[in-house]
Amino acid sequence: MSERNPSDWPTHARFGGSIVIIGFGSIGRGTLPLIQRHIGCDAARITVIDPDDDDRDLVEAAGATFRSDAITRDNHRDLLLPLLTAGDGPAFLVNLSVDVSSLDLIRLCREAGALYIDTVIEPWAGFYTDPDLSLEQRSNYALREGLLALRRSQPGGPTAVTCCGANPGMVSWLTKQALLNLAADLAVESGVESGTEAGTPQTRREWAALMRRLGVKGIHIAERDTQRARTPKPAGTFVNTWSVEGFIAEGLQPAELGWGTHEKALPPEGRRHKSGCRAAIFLKQPGATTRVRSWAPTPGGQVGFLVTHNESISIADYFTVREDGEIVYRPTCHYAYRPCDDAVASIQEFGERGWLPQEREIILDEADIVDGIDELGVLLYGHAKNAYWYGSQLSIEETRALAPHQNATGLQVTSAVLAGMVWALENPNAGIVEADEVDFRRCLEIQRPYLGPVVGVYTDWTPLDGCDEAGRPENADTSDPWQFSNVIVRESAGGMRHAA
Ligand code: NAD
Repeated sequence: MSERNPSDWPTHARFGGSIVIIGFGSIGRGTLPLIQRHIGCDAARITVIDPDDDDRDLVEAAGATFRSDAITRDNHRDLLLPLLTAGDGPAFLVNLSVDVSSLDLIRLCREAGALYIDTVIEPWAGFYTDPDLSLEQRSNYALREGLLALRRSQPGGPTAVTCCGANPGMVSWLTKQALLNLAADLAVESGVESGTEAGTPQTRREWAALMRRLGVKGIHIAERDTQRARTPKPAGTFVNTWSVEGFIAEGLQPAELGWGTHEKALPPEGRRHKSGCRAAIFLKQPGATTRVRSWAPTPGGQVGFLVTHNESISIADYFTVREDGEIVYRPTCHYAYRPCDDAVASIQEFGERGWLPQEREIILDEADIVDGIDELGVLLYGHAKNAYWYGSQLSIEETRALAPHQNATGLQVTSAVLAGMVWALENPNAGIVEADEVDFRRCLEIQRPYLGPVVGVYTDWTPLDGCDEAGRPENADTSDPWQFSNVIVRESAGGMRHAA
């Protein structure tokens, strides 16, 4: 990492309370140095909890305390409450683990008056593989509805920012900035009262109205990870650039997508939910076998995985327009994730093993990676200029120069956690909020130094142009290239379709 004077880095907030970080994996390791760099706090008041103590030295070298414990349904209260109520002021709980329930931690934080942040709505261990749960119950839709129900029953109170990583998280902020860019380029009046901040919508209603007026049919969270390891993937090993456990869990959940009003027909494997916000549908097949045509600047047309993610649902819900109680507009929204080549090979191998996870896992760190970028953005499609990708193209070289203990994928996540924490400190009584609801400008401002080039690119590409791998869709709907039926790649998948 290049030397930079610590005083060159801005202190975005000061915090006198205890900070408790749960989970010190690829994201935890990268987040700790950013917290210490940008939040004025006492290292002696930071505690990191993880059952795996391989990186205890890193925590102790930072002046923080390491505790080797697994947080469980049974012990979370006894273990965490004393830590959250130890100081004079409120504490901050930063959940960066797998298998620790976000909802139960939020409940505990509210009881303790503590602030909270996480990067996904995580359930307790066993949820993803529970044979007694239906596909619908194992969906991110169900996890999010649980969060929304908690918020309805406990409005207000200490701030808990949920799903505040890169995606979910930063992509919600990129979506808003992309809309403003598109509005400027299309020279469409944003329609809000003059005198508001540069015509920027101020409410959810105004944002949704703007997206509708711009004619956006949908949004792909379009990612291409080209990070490449020095050593080729060994057999029997799942290799990824972030949590292998997290990726396997979401890859085996049913594929889910926010379901837009422009869609003509539900896909044959699609199912609607019977209750809740109803902004999304799920497919009766796992994300690991659901491939979609999409576009990102480096590859152009590409085929990615439609893995379920919270933002597919929250963005579709956020930008829904209702008139007289009727839904008159909603964008389709889903992930189109082309992970690094080693992860693609790992998924292939995982499937060949009948979805029995490999014996070993490797999360490529900054030393393992020889080159590549994580290109992560939002592709707003279906409008007068066809499609617009807006996002971060962060390389491993830049990442190494910017921050320690992480790769490019990690830094896009950890800088969003930092941004969400700063926003929470500046807005400590906002209650339970989703990334769509926090101040996107402030968060992007904090994140910007860590995102590498942030670019906006228009493309004429549509799913009818196909991609090298998937060609042109069969039975294409040529009257509307952006129908989901053109986006999903249909192939003979044998038993794979039923693995969910
Ligand atoms: P990781 O697998 O590298 O690390 C997870 C850590 O949690 C491990 O160190 C593990 O020992 C620890 N852990 C497991 N069980 C625990 C328990 N019971 N109590 C305390 N700690 C426990 O994962 P990661 O890449 O660091 O990801 C962390 C979380 O962030 C995951 O939930 C992942 O899905 C999420 N994530 C979100 C985004 C985003 O953009 N929103 C991106 C990457 C990761």
